[in-house]
Amino acid sequence: MTSDLAQYGLLLSLLLFAILAASEAMFPRRKRSLPRVKRWRTNILIILMDSAALRLVGPIAALAAASYAAQHHIGLFNWTDWPAWLEFTLALILFDLAIYGQHIATHKIPLLWALHKVHHADRDIDVTTAIRFHPVEIILSMLYKSALVLLLGPSLLAVFVFALILNLCAMFNHSNLRLPDWLDKRLRLFLVTPDMHRVHHSTVPGETDSNYGFSIALWDRIFDTYIPQPEAGHDDMVIGLKEYQTDGPAALWWSLALPFQKRYRPDKAKGYKRKSS
Ligand SMILES: [Zn+2]
Repeated sequence: MTSDLAQYGLLLSLLLFAILAASEAMFPRRKRSLPRVKRWRTNILIILMDSAALRLVGPIAALAAASYAAQHHIGLFNWTDWPAWLEFTLALILFDLAIYGQHIATHKIPLLWALHKVHHADRDIDVTTAIRFHPVEIILSMLYKSALVLLLGPSLLAVFVFALILNLCAMFNHSNLRLPDWLDKRLRLFLVTPDMHRVHHSTVPGETDSNYGFSIALWDRIFDTYIPQPEAGHDDMVIGLKEYQTDGPAALWWSLALPFQKRYRPDKAKGYKRKSS
């Protein structure tokens, strides 16, 4: 049953990927700064490497953690006797909050930022950016999610549904898709929209430090990290990292090597300085 679900999930993800890729080509929100072929070649190679990494770690991580938690009676929901629908809903909400927290940590902790910046270096943002993560970040993230599963003890179905929602939402909110203003306005009351998440990929430090949410739009509003629109507007805002407005981010080896370069986060506006001994 789990493998059936996983197959449907993969199919649904591929379908949404194709729909968004076609839609963003037909209704682009922004003009691209680099040719798509150049970026996509690298992003898709990174995605393939990540899938390989996930193949290895994924199954032995989150889902295994859920059945381990159930068998050994650990994790919050294995101690409570609440109705299944309530535990299911709470698991989804708590997971999403934890992912919001994880995203903030990847920006604030220099070592994690070194990895996460591979995602942010992308010079344009579209549906492939959603899955452009350094393989090491993918593995760490998988371990974090497994630890969460052990803490929460959710059902296998909740783990699966959450992974699917996160995946679909990430593809949607990274897409270069133009939505009618009225739709964006209504959607972003509860769901992170492409215009909302694009602000987070701005080179302006204050804007990068906003809109951390992936699915539920509420967290940024509650924790005061919400910026509705980029100051320069969606057409003129610069996407990526200020210090890497080069061809580098569109190259595979450059992207994979980025975390191991010496400088962590050179923008002085953040007040971050490397320790000088
Ligand atoms: Zn980020």
